[in-house]
Amino acid sequence: MNIADNIRLYKEELGEGITVVAISKTKSNSEIMQAYGEGHRIFGENKIQEMTEKQEALPKDIEWHMVGHVQRNKVKYMAPYVALIHAVDSLKLLKEINKEAKKNGRSINCLLQIKIASEESKFGISAEEAREILESETFSKMQFIKITGLMGMATFTEDMGQVKEEFSYLKKVFGEFRKDHPQLQTLSMGMTGDYKTAVACGSNMVRIGTGIFGER
Ligand SMILES: *Cc1c(COP(=O)(O)O)cnc(C)c1O
Repeated sequence: MNIADNIRLYKEELGEGITVVAISKTKSNSEIMQAYGEGHRIFGENKIQEMTEKQEALPKDIEWHMVGHVQRNKVKYMAPYVALIHAVDSLKLLKEINKEAKKNGRSINCLLQIKIASEESKFGISAEEAREILESETFSKMQFIKITGLMGMATFTEDMGQVKEEFSYLKKVFGEFRKDHPQLQTLSMGMTGDYKTAVACGSNMVRIGTGIFGER
């Protein structure tokens, strides 16, 4: 497993228009530094405490993305530095992020997570709920948050036909939202097992863990 080669190959394959977020959860600082040494700067984690420990120890030009479900009482730990929060799924959470961003004198970029999978276990909200949030008065008053796109996770299945349907649905929602909200630029979908399908369906940000760092 050569992490530097892996990251280079993904970036060559995907090209400039698609952002690769290297998902480094459970991986060591030295493994992260192998990708960093190859010039990679965008890493994603799913636990705030683990991400914060890594952020403190590693070079400050790394862009840290939170890709996991976020508990409101932990937002304060990442608010000083987080570059993008992928899985925002409520107005309450947005309020907390806005409050902590303000305290830190910065604005925090967020994606709304849309539930596209058929599994009960997956987080996220419906397209209708997402639109309500985007167009709510409460959100319009939040000065320290930017919603810059949408995120989705497909059903964990071998059936790529189903995965394709789910990603295509989210791409359609993204297109519709963008007509009224052109600030939405990012469509985060695709992981190691389904990124090719995601990209074919219009993703412009993929979250690759296993394919770069090996099994967890
Ligand atoms: C772990 C994780 C990934 C990466 O998964 P791989 O299958 O290892 O590529 C992507 N997105 C989220 C939200 C994750 O939690």
